Amino acid sequence: MRVIGIEGTAWNLSIAIVDEKDVIAEAEAVYIPKHGGIHPREAAQHHAAEIKNVLTKVLSAAAERGVTPHDIDGVAFSQGPGMGPCLRVVATAARTLSLKLKVPLVGVNHCVAHVEVGRWRCGAEDPVTLYVSGANSQVLAYRGGRYRILGETLDIGIGNALDKFARFLGLSHPGGPKIEELARRGREYVPLPYVVKGMDFSFSGLETAAEKAVNDGRSVEDVCFSFQETAFAMLTEVTERAVAHCEKDEVLLAGGVGANGRLQEMLRTMCEERGAKFYVPEARFLKDNGAMIAYLGLLMLKSGVRTPIDASAVKPNFRPEEVEVTWR
Ligand code: AMP
Ligand code: MG
Repeated sequence: MRVIGIEGTAWNLSIAIVDEKDVIAEAEAVYIPKHGGIHPREAAQHHAAEIKNVLTKVLSAAAERGVTPHDIDGVAFSQGPGMGPCLRVVATAARTLSLKLKVPLVGVNHCVAHVEVGRWRCGAEDPVTLYVSGANSQVLAYRGGRYRILGETLDIGIGNALDKFARFLGLSHPGGPKIEELARRGREYVPLPYVVKGMDFSFSGLETAAEKAVNDGRSVEDVCFSFQETAFAMLTEVTERAVAHCEKDEVLLAGGVGANGRLQEMLRTMCEERGAKFYVPEARFLKDNGAMIAYLGLLMLKSGVRTPIDASAVKPNFRPEEVEVTWR
């Protein structure tokens, strides 16, 4: 089976064709805000302007590998969660493509796609997943036929907090990699609010306190270092508790912030101490990508799931628990 998948929940418009074994073709167009953070309407306009181009690229890359549009058995799209205007561009294109190719349509949950692509690429069986991106920060595990959120952010995603702090420092979007670079040169820990409530965490107060520390004269490098140490320790603590409670022995990292070397190091240490296996997919499968949407679509279609056009409306607040896992 071959499935084409369209991702475009936020900054990355990405389309890929996959089969059970591998990614056949992939193309993307990245929206970079001129100033400030991601603007939903501007991002949607970017996606609308680029989608024909990205689709043409992916189809010609597939053709080079002997795969034509007639060989495509289904169309998958990220139905949510994400920015409404962006999701609508993606859904419209997916419906059109499904009608044109006369193949079934399937709407997939973006968070579940992050988990499944990680399991696929790393060979993890039943991990606790830490999914950390711009908008989302969640700890997920499979229980009772669904992916349950065991812990999540009470306010903004960790990526958003990093991007916001970077903006305050005058750095351009995305800020995460720039903060990571600065943090390497930090020496002294500046106390910042460590907020874990039960299994949930919060980053908004931490970000405000980091701005205040810089205004109070602490070095930017020290504050970046302390920001990472505090936020990543919170995420590692909750992930560890999830592993213990669920009696799992695998941890999977997902989402763009997963590219961070210090976060990986903390999680790896925690896993070593517990005798758990730690999995990190290649960077191109960590960040938002079309392949994960195509792959989850393939799993869902194979298990008999279809999304009729009249049920294909976008779901900006789509939660992973809403999806019945029919493919495991
Ligand atoms: P995603 O939405 O999953 O594609 O992830 C995007 C987020 O990942 C943005 O907030 C980036 O700032 C963040 N990010 C990317 N690379 C890194 C890194 N090396 N360290 C921390 N955050 C990162
Ligand atoms: Mg994501």
